[in-house]
Amino acid sequence: MASSSATAAALVWFRRDLRLHDNPALWAAVRSGRPLICVFIDDPDPEAQLAPGRASRWWLHHSLTALSRSIHQRGGQLVLKRGETAAALTALCEETGATEVYWNRGDSPTRANDDAALAASLATVGVKARGFASGTLFNPATQLNGSGKPYRVFTPYWKACLRAPEPAPALPAPQSLTAFRPVASDALEDWKLRPSKPDWAAGFSKDWQPGEDGARKRLEHFLAGDLADYPDMRDRPDRDGTSGLSPHLAWGEISPRAIWHTVRNHAENGGNFQGAEKFLSELGWRDFAIYLAHHFGSLRENNFNAQFDHFPWRRNPAGLEAWKRGQTGVPIVDAGMRQLWLTGWMHNRVRMITASFLIKHLGVHWREGMAWFEDTLVDADLNVNAASWQWVAGSGADAAPYFRIFNPVTQGERFDPQGAYVHKWVPELSGLAGKAVHAPWTRPARELATAGVTLEETYPQPVIDLKTGRELALESYQDMKANADAAVQPALGG
Ligand code: FAD
Repeated sequence: MASSSATAAALVWFRRDLRLHDNPALWAAVRSGRPLICVFIDDPDPEAQLAPGRASRWWLHHSLTALSRSIHQRGGQLVLKRGETAAALTALCEETGATEVYWNRGDSPTRANDDAALAASLATVGVKARGFASGTLFNPATQLNGSGKPYRVFTPYWKACLRAPEPAPALPAPQSLTAFRPVASDALEDWKLRPSKPDWAAGFSKDWQPGEDGARKRLEHFLAGDLADYPDMRDRPDRDGTSGLSPHLAWGEISPRAIWHTVRNHAENGGNFQGAEKFLSELGWRDFAIYLAHHFGSLRENNFNAQFDHFPWRRNPAGLEAWKRGQTGVPIVDAGMRQLWLTGWMHNRVRMITASFLIKHLGVHWREGMAWFEDTLVDADLNVNAASWQWVAGSGADAAPYFRIFNPVTQGERFDPQGAYVHKWVPELSGLAGKAVHAPWTRPARELATAGVTLEETYPQPVIDLKTGRELALESYQDMKANADAAVQPALGG
């Protein structure tokens, strides 16, 4: 099929690496001197699908628009194809005579396995696959403990990473691309990635600029603030204390190592070391989630700690629905869930509070919450999301112990002391000042009346009494332990 001449075309297959800067696959393809065909494939297979939910698809639309523009400005074309990945790549190679496909490797085991299968299938038609690492700071395969086993706890893992050679410097974006002749492409509009009736993402563009330029601006804006504040302010949802880089990272619009070097340079040139270290360790948590999936398989389906297979989850469809809609009657939870719905993003502290409330107070399986986040987050990342839900549930690696149950009222009082975050997202409570906003059901009738709040009319009563919810959670935990012991006994007895 394909021509074997040194000037035969090469494909550059874009995945969750929608950038030209520090893109090792693209860089190597450019250096090969071949004419290039850049391609993005929308594979409908749920296993292979790059955009797991509706908010991600909104992001993808805009990110592809930005990438296509940048490629075009450098003389190239971004070709869009929908279909099964191996078939689409093979067909494109056949159509264009391309003999090589360059890509950055997938970061989870299923995708990594797919990479190997894909390379094998391309080899059968005489096409060579060239894979590169780009999604993490440190290569997951190389960080092992003294016994040669993968780490299960973050701190020793991260210490090992910090002892390893620093991530390589970021590569520049190619100045120009030698394009192949124009190739037939789907029209992005036809993919209908954006919601229309209704357009629930209408507000997203106010907050986000998908694409590389948006990512760079986010990082610059973040570093223009005081990094010294980051370790404390990152926990305050009422402040602009974090970078907001997560969707850009999730879509690979900026590479972790480009962030690493920019932040370190910033610290060395008068920035704050402690703040920089803390920030980079958060990128380390992202790496760790991918690392866990690499070594132990996806955390989306199974409890990392198998004891939790015996957990007596409750069926609570009404509670789940109230949670999704931000109508639980617990203000910090509702504020978070509404921020998520309206912007596609939620502050990390509030992600922990809302997840804990669903899992522990309402007794709903962590997979239900994970699925809703996958659907509604613009930064939905299958590995990070699953690892984080399991972390909150207590079933994950290095997880918070299950019996440590967040009290959403005290969390709100501590991290949103003036109630500004709740006021912003739950405006019907804006008449309640300061800490009062975090537990309206405890306020005297007169105070509520002055604030214009009528419980069950303007704002719901809590879907569960917090003390009762906590007790139920602790009982369930004891039941799980008893169930797990009972399951082990026959095995031992036998
Ligand atoms: P910053 O504080 O500026 O951190 C910089 C970067 O470090 C982030 O962009 C992110 O890539 C990484 N990071 C920060 N905190 C964490 C963390 N706790 N775990 C892993 N990586 C982290 N993050 C996702 O990117 N995608 C998800 O699908 C996702 N789901 C989550 C679900 C739950 C239940 C919880 C508790 C957390 C989840 N997180 C997820 C992690 C975290 O909440 C977000 O990464 C963070 O809020 C993004 O905001 P930021 O970019 O301003 O963070």
